Amino acid sequence: MKSSPHRPATLALHAGLPEGAPRAVGAPISPPITTTTSFHTAPDAVGFSAADLQEAAPHFYTRWGNPTIELLEGRLAALEEGAAAVCFASGMGAVSALFFARLGAGAHLVLSDVCYAGVAELAHETLPRFGIEVTTTNTADPECVAAAIRPGATRLVHIETPANPILKLSDIAAIAEVAHAAGAELSVDSTIATPIATRPLALGADYVVHSLTKYICGHGDTIAGAVVGRSAERMAALRKEALIHYGAALHPFAAWLVLRGLETLPARMRIHEENARRVATWLTAHPRVAAVHWPGLPSHPQRALAERQMQNASGLLAFTVKDGSPALAKQFAERLRVISYAVSLGKTKSLLFYIPTDDILRTSFRLAGAQEAAYRAAAGEGVFRLSVGLEDPDDLIADLDQALGG
Ligand SMILES: *Cc1c(COP(=O)(O)O)cnc(C)c1O
Repeated sequence: MKSSPHRPATLALHAGLPEGAPRAVGAPISPPITTTTSFHTAPDAVGFSAADLQEAAPHFYTRWGNPTIELLEGRLAALEEGAAAVCFASGMGAVSALFFARLGAGAHLVLSDVCYAGVAELAHETLPRFGIEVTTTNTADPECVAAAIRPGATRLVHIETPANPILKLSDIAAIAEVAHAAGAELSVDSTIATPIATRPLALGADYVVHSLTKYICGHGDTIAGAVVGRSAERMAALRKEALIHYGAALHPFAAWLVLRGLETLPARMRIHEENARRVATWLTAHPRVAAVHWPGLPSHPQRALAERQMQNASGLLAFTVKDGSPALAKQFAERLRVISYAVSLGKTKSLLFYIPTDDILRTSFRLAGAQEAAYRAAAGEGVFRLSVGLEDPDDLIADLDQALGG
């Protein structure tokens, strides 16, 4: 694992440049955007196969690698304390790449029962068509993970912490131990935490997955994803198989937008957290509000784990109201003037979206029994997911207040 003398705020601005990169007089300080599909190649240098990709090979074709994308990959690897990163065209591109590259017919995946809807649907609908078996379990309890693992068959445990949309946490260090004891790898979707809050590889995970679309880009102007891993060999294999052959390559301009957003990630996360604390505290006291879920609140049921595992509580919260949620969703969409009624999260501007429980249980999570009961207990008839942005928190509170009122 790479160790760097610099701290995250410095890494977000400077990491990923080659060791001792010259600072020639007249050279640009911002990275260039290399929008080319191919690169001049020596006649005998590289064959036309992913198998010919060498660590130190010169650039060849942008789906193999590109200087702008490599700068982003190096920066993400440094921030996550990983050996290497591979970028993809979206967060889902990164997750599907990892799943298909690490799993195959007869393999078994253990998955968080509550996670990003697209990942849940991929696991329920697509993986079984390729002979991959999936068990969803309550990863908030490492014993449930241990019980779900099938020694010899389980190849990957995939958790999301905090988990969208109810901000349930999973103990990365404890689950890494359980997974490794059974010969399985652990991947962590850390999109909501970001490396400013949590560095899963340092806690024992094998892979970290990000939707760079969210906090890391931070401005809501591009879609992008990445996998960061602890093993350079496995990441090189992922590049060959999942990037070159599946082909969900990132555009260099999108990589540049993410690099630009990443420069301010540490500063933004401080404000996201501060604003979320103000808004969550205000919501908690509102007479219409039934519950507020945010890892930074003293009332979060996994407060001790939050303190141990998250150095920043992030800016995503969810709340439920006592009754009339669908009508309130409509009212929010019509009345909000600062916050936007829209999907996505982690951008500069605040976003609010209503997620009805019956819908997400039926289409995405497909939970039954105790798992369904636990989700319903947290989410009621539906959650209002609020990605608290960088606006003045008093303006956000005033906007919510006028939109919530009778
Ligand atoms: C958005 C999101 C994804 C998917 O990322 P895209 O960039 O939209 O493909 C995956 N996981 C989490 C937690 C997300 O929030």
